[in-house]
Amino acid sequence: MKAIAVVPKTKNSVSILDMANPNFKENEVLVKVNLVGLDGTDKEIDEGIYGEAPGDERLLVIGHESFGEVEGTGGNIKSLNIGDRVVAMVRRPDDCLNCLAGESDMCLKGNYTERGIKGRHGYLSEYYVEEEKYLVKVPHELGELAVLLEPVSVAEKAIRMAFSVQKRMAWEPKLAMVTGTGSLGLITAMLLRLRGLDVISVDRSDDEYKAKILSQLGVTHFNTKKINLRDIPEKMGRQIDIIIEETGSSNVAAETPIVIGTNGVVVLTSITGGDKKIERPVDLVNLKMVLQNNTIVGSVNAHRQDFERGVNDLMAVKERWPGLLEKLITARYPPEDIRKALDSMSENIKVLIDFSIKN
Ligand SMILES: [Zn+2]
Repeated sequence: MKAIAVVPKTKNSVSILDMANPNFKENEVLVKVNLVGLDGTDKEIDEGIYGEAPGDERLLVIGHESFGEVEGTGGNIKSLNIGDRVVAMVRRPDDCLNCLAGESDMCLKGNYTERGIKGRHGYLSEYYVEEEKYLVKVPHELGELAVLLEPVSVAEKAIRMAFSVQKRMAWEPKLAMVTGTGSLGLITAMLLRLRGLDVISVDRSDDEYKAKILSQLGVTHFNTKKINLRDIPEKMGRQIDIIIEETGSSNVAAETPIVIGTNGVVVLTSITGGDKKIERPVDLVNLKMVLQNNTIVGSVNAHRQDFERGVNDLMAVKERWPGLLEKLITARYPPEDIRKALDSMSENIKVLIDFSIKN
């Protein structure tokens, strides 16, 4: 079968190769891959920044945003049948307190593995094998939009973190801000609108294509090249109750405690691998955090419940804003064009590798 792999920690090493078709055991499911979405992590793995091959292997098959169809089931499989459509979760547990409690997204020791990223092959191959408990069944009506479920699960967890820490008080959030309008930012804005919140998006552009998506959603957009992030609450005439930070920039993350309103919550999700240093008004940040009872919480990866809620929310978004989710998918390539696909990511919202395109 065709598979797309890198030599981890080697720049631009991605290539398509032939691999043996996988065999599946009694407790495993064979999945035929239809689509795989690419994200910044795949790009960074290709740039040699991240990535770890399994065991003593030289290559890592990449890809963690999958959508496929069950093609074979082992004798012990109970909940899945041939023809079911599935999305696979990404992280696999170690033996820490949280992993043993079924929350590997909260892993304490950090010895988890992640398919397509850390110590396990990913889904950018014609077939993969997985245990039932890491597969999430998706309805046929969702069609190929199911390929968005993995990034949706990451946004779901970030929102769940906000609401779960806010159980500390009586709280009725009205206005949310999402910083960053990449695919994750746009998805998060959708999910927050679905929960009935007014939503502000910010980035450093006036992209017309994204502006149409945001206006269809009823999101108010600000270009932070034209307005300072700190001035937005005054411009809106109201305070911001939730900020979900998804720019990938620690500069923006560092501003969020100054922008958030009273009794507010900031969720940080950007993975910033550099070693940037900036000067901060720490008295002001501290004062605001204390006097406003604010909280900042970090969020990464997703729990199974986030995937499950994600399935329901994708269906709800599809029904409420028909055609909107489709607009997030702006390019698709056959597996042979992986190089082109990775290089096209900066000018796209979501790029897919489509195994049904015959080269
Ligand atoms: Zn763990």
